[in-house]
Amino acid sequence: MNTKVALITGGSRGIGAATAIRLAQDGADVAFTYHQSKERAADVVEQIKTTGRRALAIQADSASPEAVKEAVSQTVAEFGRLDILVNNAGTAAFAPITELSISDFDHVVNVNVKAAFVAAQAAAAHLGPDGRIITIGSCAATRVTGPAYSLYSLSKTALIGLNKGLARDLGPRGITANLIHPGPIDTEMNPADGPMADENRGHVALGKYGEAWDVAAMVSYLAGESGRYVTGAEIAVDGGYTT
Ligand code: NDP
Repeated sequence: MNTKVALITGGSRGIGAATAIRLAQDGADVAFTYHQSKERAADVVEQIKTTGRRALAIQADSASPEAVKEAVSQTVAEFGRLDILVNNAGTAAFAPITELSISDFDHVVNVNVKAAFVAAQAAAAHLGPDGRIITIGSCAATRVTGPAYSLYSLSKTALIGLNKGLARDLGPRGITANLIHPGPIDTEMNPADGPMADENRGHVALGKYGEAWDVAAMVSYLAGESGRYVTGAEIAVDGGYTT
């Protein structure tokens, strides 16, 4: 069987890095994008190589549709195919509605929503039967527990519609599309010792933060043979945050 090829956006840190390494452990060659963390991207490349799989780090700002499209093209040029797209790169601007600017809106929507749309569109040209599109949303898409979430939350809610549409458009080709909603996961975006951590923990049924590997494990499930009849789904990996 041919080695699968995965592309993960935002693979230099956090959930994306864990996912890149996990998919390599599962046997895939892995390309991933990063924006600023060049050295950390190089470190992830080394970790992927220890699994025996091939790795490619691509500098690509998700705010640029051209850069996102180019990342898909580079992946196919390097590895000859694309089987799994993981839309992971994300950003946040947490502030009350009265303090958010139009440029905040544009940046968050470009990175969190437009890039996922563009990447899925570009990937769809290359994915074969059994292809996978897995998008990382957020528990904040469906549950907002306090102020300052309007922009981040709307960007993640938009992914629900995108995911359902992808499942319908691409299902006839045998391609699945699924959306994972993480809860509080200990990364630089949301550190378990950060200022909001205790409040976040208070909303989690399990009473603690998850780790990036918890989300990567769900990506692995959906990307593998086990996930072949799952599509259009939203799967919470949130410790019960939305329960
Ligand atoms: P981190 O901030 O730890 O990592 C973000 C990753 O995305 C980095 O690799 C970063 O690259 C990349 N990235 C950010 N902006 C851009 C950009 N403009 N272009 C390309 N890459 C970019 O975040 P997490 O790992 O926590 O989050 C990953 C995803 O999970 C996001 O979509 C986030 O919204 C979602 N999520 C996270 C939760 C959490 O509690 N941590 C909860 C729910 C959802 P670089 O380092 O090069 O800048």
